Amino acid sequence: MYYLNRCIAHYCINGAKMREMKTDAVTRAVRDLFIAANQELGEDIVRKFETCAKQESSGTAAGVLKELRENAKIAREEFSPLCQDTGLALLFIDIGQDVHIIGGDLREAVNEGVRQGYAEGYLRKSVCSPFTRANTGDNTPAVIHYDIVPGERLKIIVMPKGGGAENMSRVVMLTPAAGLSGVKNAVLETVRSAGANPCPPIIIGVGVGGTLERSALIAKRALLRKMGERSADPEIAAIEEDLLKRVNELGIGPMAYGGKTTALDVFMEVEPCHIASLPVTVNIQCHASRHKEVVL
Ligand code: SF4
Repeated sequence: MYYLNRCIAHYCINGAKMREMKTDAVTRAVRDLFIAANQELGEDIVRKFETCAKQESSGTAAGVLKELRENAKIAREEFSPLCQDTGLALLFIDIGQDVHIIGGDLREAVNEGVRQGYAEGYLRKSVCSPFTRANTGDNTPAVIHYDIVPGERLKIIVMPKGGGAENMSRVVMLTPAAGLSGVKNAVLETVRSAGANPCPPIIIGVGVGGTLERSALIAKRALLRKMGERSADPEIAAIEEDLLKRVNELGIGPMAYGGKTTALDVFMEVEPCHIASLPVTVNIQCHASRHKEVVL
């Protein structure tokens, strides 16, 4: 994570300190983060490829994991994208309640950063009209999830999201009687039916509770966790471990050639929901799980 302090000033309104931040700083940060995210796979994921390769009894499965590690190394060293699908531009922006953004429209500043990053980084533009399929030409508009948080900082997280894994994700509205076993079955069935399509080994974000859209949002944000980072709730952590074991027992394996490594990890977020509902989202992420963040 980077911390930047450019383009920033403080002032007071009725004794309350506000921090000014120019939209130019946001545009530059978004541009740099999307280029870096597409070239630098997280070290935690690269290490996980190595660990899983040692555990594989199949030479093909181990070989695929070694190729993925090598691909990540080449991308980082040669400043080239990890994958031809450089993703839809997805962002989480946590805005400190004591930040005052000046110099223009925040959404437009983000989209300008996406435009510049995808042009300067020679990244594929993958955004189009859903019906005509006409490409927007610059990978905008970005999908931006905002949150207001305490403090005077702005945190920007970028996640270029590939289409193959996103397409295999599911939202299911279970009945409350389905319970934990229903949630686990939804995860296992989603992974089983996805097969080779999301380029396994995958990472699985599970959002349980809230409403339909809230379950999807927390499932997606769960994908930002580092490999092995278990839920702070011991009961949820145990569910994550059980699901990871059961997903890997499906035997789909790296790139679906068979093996023990169908998923690198499972992350579950849980929130309260309506007494009549049990929303569940299974958001699948491929092995090219790209995300970077900065705090301005
Ligand atoms: S699913 Fe992931 S690894 Fe596969 S093509 Fe899409 S972005 Fe690339």
